[in-house]
Amino acid sequence: MEKILFLAHVEPGGSLGKAALEALAAAGLPGGELTVGLVGPGAAAAANRIAGSRAVRFLVVEGEAFAQSRYASDAAAAEALARAAGASLIVAAHTSRWARALPGVAARLHGRIDTHVTHIAEVNGVPLVTRWFYRQRMEGVLTRSERPWFVLLEAGCGPAWSGAPGSAEVESLAVPAASRTTVVGRRAPQAGEQTIRPDAGLLFVAGAGWTKKQADGTAHPRQAEQLILDFLRASRASLGGSKSLVDQGGEGQAVLTCMSHLNQIGQTGSTPRHPKGLATCCHGEEPHVVGWRFITERRAVNLDPNCGWARGKADILYVADAFQVMEHVNRLLCAGT
Ligand SMILES: Cc1cc2nc3c(=O)[nH]c(=O)nc-3n(C[C@H](O)[C@H](O)[C@H](O)COP(=O)(O)OP(=O)(O)OC[C@H]3O[C@@H](n4cnc5c(N)ncnc54)[C@H](O)[C@@H]3O)c2cc1C
Repeated sequence: MEKILFLAHVEPGGSLGKAALEALAAAGLPGGELTVGLVGPGAAAAANRIAGSRAVRFLVVEGEAFAQSRYASDAAAAEALARAAGASLIVAAHTSRWARALPGVAARLHGRIDTHVTHIAEVNGVPLVTRWFYRQRMEGVLTRSERPWFVLLEAGCGPAWSGAPGSAEVESLAVPAASRTTVVGRRAPQAGEQTIRPDAGLLFVAGAGWTKKQADGTAHPRQAEQLILDFLRASRASLGGSKSLVDQGGEGQAVLTCMSHLNQIGQTGSTPRHPKGLATCCHGEEPHVVGWRFITERRAVNLDPNCGWARGKADILYVADAFQVMEHVNRLLCAGT
């Protein structure tokens, strides 16, 4: 029987993030024995919130030193939890924090790690993981004989665990948090407001057309930016961009200041997992659309009826001026309809 450890860092206030709850749901394989391992201040409170899960043990590493995302303390906590649980399979959400710390922990424990996993199953008591290869073009299902086996599960691929809270019997581990790294502050890559929202129901993609000359012979980047930001604020959608648009800053052309390379979707960008997507002023070329692999319902607004979206890449293409469409949509959103 697999001894499974579900590993999570605790959010401020003693809660668990959505990605962690998805990993918890996936970690509860019927043939395994589940232990919960939580890291950070408020871990005991977080354990109570998931007391109704299949877990038979609740291990915690608490203390302010474990609040920060820092390789040394995160790796020390994860190693101690994996050893205490005697875990053969360790499942955690693919957060940037675990993606940084867990490969080193797997090496320390002479184990193996698979990242970007999208599904965990069990056949005859053998765990199988699914992941995509070659920029999401091929899907593979694999298992491993080496243990401990660490699995980092991508967010948004499965249901989050939900159940009644309760009173968990918590075992606290004393872990030295010695580190040469001191966190002195936080510097965000974007100066403006946060536009990347992995949990949003809609991905709104802006293409280079927003900054191109329009029917009146001039470009309107400021108007474009305002329309996009108004829409994002009203809809709480996540903002993606085409490579052409996010590259323009480096070429000294008119740019949307709310965009950076972090927003880029596609072959050399990200592959988000929102249930719906709306592309505007974006041609829909293959290197861009490959990043839409996991977007279930796709719509696009483009002036060109022969754009890439028209060739089977979108469920619905509106052949229209995105400036006019978004102005109208924003008016409807503001009116609450
Ligand atoms: C190796 C490689 C990797 C790449 N990786 C990526 C990647 O990761 N992501 C990515 O995005 N691209 C990538 N590309 C680039 C990709 O091939 C395209 O060049 C890029 O996606 C084009 O961006 P775009 O559609 O925004 O711009 P354009 O091709 O310039 O299209 C602009 C569109 O806006 C429309 N438009 C203009 N005004 C309006 C209006 N008022 N209303 C409605 N529509 C309007 C036009 O009709 C046009 O279709 C890659 C290319 C290569 C070679």
